[in-house]
Amino acid sequence: MFKHLKAVSGDPLLALIMAHKQDTNPKKVDLGVGVYKDDNGHTPILNSVKKAEAILLEQEDSKSYLGIYGATEFEAIIKDLILGEGNPLITSGRIRSTQTPGGTGALKVAADFISANLKDARLWVSDPTWGNHKSIFDSAGVEVKDYPYYDPATNGLRFDDMMATLEAEVQEGDVLLLHACCHNPTGIDLQLDHWKTLTDFVNKRGLLPLVDAAYQGFGDGLDEDLAGLRHMAANVKDMLIANSFSKNFGIYRERCGGLSVIAESADEANAAFSIIGQAIRANYSMPPAHGAAVVYTIMSNPELKAEWELEVTAMRDRINGLRAKLVKKLAASGVSKDFSFIQDQRGMFSYSGLTLEQVRTLRSEYAIYIADTGRMSIAGVSDQNIDYLCESIKKVVG
Ligand code: PMP
Repeated sequence: MFKHLKAVSGDPLLALIMAHKQDTNPKKVDLGVGVYKDDNGHTPILNSVKKAEAILLEQEDSKSYLGIYGATEFEAIIKDLILGEGNPLITSGRIRSTQTPGGTGALKVAADFISANLKDARLWVSDPTWGNHKSIFDSAGVEVKDYPYYDPATNGLRFDDMMATLEAEVQEGDVLLLHACCHNPTGIDLQLDHWKTLTDFVNKRGLLPLVDAAYQGFGDGLDEDLAGLRHMAANVKDMLIANSFSKNFGIYRERCGGLSVIAESADEANAAFSIIGQAIRANYSMPPAHGAAVVYTIMSNPELKAEWELEVTAMRDRINGLRAKLVKKLAASGVSKDFSFIQDQRGMFSYSGLTLEQVRTLRSEYAIYIADTGRMSIAGVSDQNIDYLCESIKKVVG
């Protein structure tokens, strides 16, 4: 039965993580893995999460099924976090939100929904984008096309090229995927003016925006990071939003995210939501409970919520502080390349502009693990390894 099957090569990032694990060099540095780490290289459980779990251990009284949308009280949590409490889209009923297994689950449900209901819609993604975007939409039978985004010459955004490609090639009904903030893998974000231009473009050309919000709170602030998303949501007829609680609550393995649909009217939103429910049922039936229960417990308790907000701020400040330190120490090392752009990037990742050859040398000679694309996970930098990292980059880049 399986004789014809050939093994596929796994995700190169997972291979990189394995290679780092097996490396015996005591100076080894892991800048591959995409999770937050503290200065000791550990991915901690937030205090607010630990406290919420203690409350749940005490109070949880059933493990019965939740239903396809997850816990009903969770819908308001998703909407409030994404749009801000009291947003007119919430009060008018034009947005409906469901709990999903992580941001990945939200994207998979969105892909199934689009594939089954929006015939001939193609999905436009940035070049580059998170690798799984393509896999998820490919597997749902949605054609994926890309628009220019990263400019290796400036280590910045190719917004004019992005718009020129979209102007020339989109068809009415196509889906435009945008990263809300902390673009993975580049760290280069759209600014509010870009969001305004894109909002006008979406309306003019009849596109459906799908915004992936996986890192809310990791850029400039919980509200600040979604300013572009909120502008777009307020000014388009329809929109899909996939969000993840993995990073900002540090609950990666609990698989908690949300999928929201915004439509022209509450009736349309409810109809779309019912069909999204069908897609969920045929996919995984219903989401796991624990992560959402933790998030709900925190968000509905003012003290825990305040503590969580401080913890998100601490994670964000650490990453932005590391960006500043890296830029300063690299410049002080006398390296020939200007790395100041690292400070303008946001979120967990940085496209470093290092070439494949430089990345490979850093790996083989200095045990510094960076993805072949040059993507560095900034959270993997620490006070213990930053000097070694900067000296090594100087040696390799010249
Ligand atoms: N979107 C992007 C851009 C991501 O980087 C990630 C996580 N790496 C996800 C979605 C999915 O997140 P989750 O782990 O919650 O499925």
